[in-house]
Amino acid sequence: MSQIDAGKLRVERRPLQLRPLLESVLHSFESRLEGRTVNLELAGPEPHMLADAELLSLALRQLIDNALKYSPPGTPLDITFQSTPGRAILRLHDHGAGIPERDWERVFDKYYRRESARRLVPGTGLGLYIAREIARAHGQDLWIESAGPGGTQFCLSLPLENS
Ligand code: ATP
Ligand code: MG
Repeated sequence: MSQIDAGKLRVERRPLQLRPLLESVLHSFESRLEGRTVNLELAGPEPHMLADAELLSLALRQLIDNALKYSPPGTPLDITFQSTPGRAILRLHDHGAGIPERDWERVFDKYYRRESARRLVPGTGLGLYIAREIARAHGQDLWIESAGPGGTQFCLSLPLENS
């Protein structure tokens, strides 16, 4: 946080593979998955990323932590990956109550928590702020996309070798 606040997030970009990174992050949540299905669908060739493994896994942990906090136990988590030339996007789709479109930007604000979340679970409202700062420090972004009825879909563009 202090690095982010000072506008000096130190990013050490090294070659990184997506699948092992995701698997190790998911593994760290094993005790909280409680019988949920995680559909990990990484179609296409493995993207060659140049990224800071620690920071990127911190960003992914915020997204998975939220998916588990804000969707009912037993609902699945869908993780998909889509690659077009020069751009690769990871999507995490949970099946919780979702976020109304008017709040799709605000949830990334520092300390912002929706009313419903405040009643549901403790938190500081920093997770998405940190995750987006990490994406942006890699020259990428994190945003919310329409996911049809129900749930929330977060999209993270990935720092590729040539980006
Ligand atoms: P922290 O991550 O610091 O423990 P937090 O989870 O409340 O606290 P953020 O991760 O920044 O903070 O999320 C901000 C707010 O966005 C949440 O309080 C919640 O209202 C909403 N939100 C985030 N992820 C989801 C989700 N997957 N489904 C529904 N609402 C969400
Ligand atoms: Mg959070």
